[in-house]
Amino acid sequence: MKRVYLDHSATTPLDPEVLEKMLPYFTEKFGNANSMHSFGQEGAYAVDEARRKIAELIGAKPTEIYFTSGGTEADNWAIKGMAAKLRKKGNHIITSSIEHAAIIASCHQLEEFGFDVTFLPVDKTGKVNPADLVKAITDKTILVSVMLANNEIGTIQPVKELCDIAHKKGIYFHTDAVQAVGSIPVSVKDLGVDLMSFSAHKFYGPKGVGVLYIKGGTKPDKFMTGGHQERTMRGGTTNVPGVVGMAAALEKAVKHLDENYNYVKSLRDRFVKRVKEEIPYVIYNGHETDRLPQNANFAFDFIEGESILMSLDLAGIACSSGSACSSGSLEPSHVLLATGLPVEKAHGSIRFSFGRDNTVEDVDYTVDKLKEIVNKLREMSPLFCEFKGETKNV
Ligand code: PLP
Repeated sequence: MKRVYLDHSATTPLDPEVLEKMLPYFTEKFGNANSMHSFGQEGAYAVDEARRKIAELIGAKPTEIYFTSGGTEADNWAIKGMAAKLRKKGNHIITSSIEHAAIIASCHQLEEFGFDVTFLPVDKTGKVNPADLVKAITDKTILVSVMLANNEIGTIQPVKELCDIAHKKGIYFHTDAVQAVGSIPVSVKDLGVDLMSFSAHKFYGPKGVGVLYIKGGTKPDKFMTGGHQERTMRGGTTNVPGVVGMAAALEKAVKHLDENYNYVKSLRDRFVKRVKEEIPYVIYNGHETDRLPQNANFAFDFIEGESILMSLDLAGIACSSGSACSSGSLEPSHVLLATGLPVEKAHGSIRFSFGRDNTVEDVDYTVDKLKEIVNKLREMSPLFCEFKGETKNV
């Protein structure tokens, strides 16, 4: 059976060239990068090189790159580390209502410790209005965190503008760039942010490794206490193969960014055009243009996203309803609800995320199957019968 992977926002396959560069650090170059001997120094050299490369690729200095176990840890560290450090200055944090669970849950945890959190609303395309940020700032605000691009609907936020507003009031700014890095150009210098999270497995690198960029002079509290790794800021034996893989994957993603952006976007655009033209009663969630090239998110009226997802899976097509990280829960997506989509339409939404390994044939196969599946499910749907004015004996 044909298999089509359209869930690149959940994770990407590891690039074989990246794996090739990682392999020696699992085998002959296995030393602990913190050991003084030559085995350790081989690892330390590779970590230094990776740090230097990653810094250069995002417009940072090597000393501003801190390796973590991924995007979730980087987000937790940014939010809780800054909150702990600045507690005496204030107890108010501002974020958006469509952040990834790593940010939302960190903020809710801080609420239990006496912090106040404002979750900024978004418009129907998923964008934060900078005027809402201006209004939300108080003299107790210590941190603003707004994601660069959303994982469910792909909407890209005006982060530079939001960051400027925070800085004018002397407030630190963090952005979760997990979905953006490797897909669109990202430079911490251009954005002006103080902290930025990103993760290797979203750009064809390995799982379990990420970065928190911390601008020089910004000093969050330690999050993982332990050994002296990461200039004493993050304890734990360094994941040398992971770090090497992250640098190799980012280097390749940035080198081919334009080409991949245009290719992936052309597949996504073909998919969106065909779905809009060939399947009635659909809503294209997210922003038309300020959007990640890989993302398409549709609400299919009258039917459940989970049923579409399962039928697509039986046809060999992998995509997701809500974000992969929260799937398994049947709660409607907080992102779609925040855009004003009614609960029943949020339940009927599916995310398709394309990658550089997909083809035009994959797109056409998916649309053909999707048409069949949506038609079949609608025929069985009492809601659709009601809509058509028919009665259905169920
Ligand atoms: N932030 C966003 C926007 C994400 O999409 C994800 C993962 O899907 C994360 C954070 C978590 O990253 P990781 O899987 O590396 O922990």
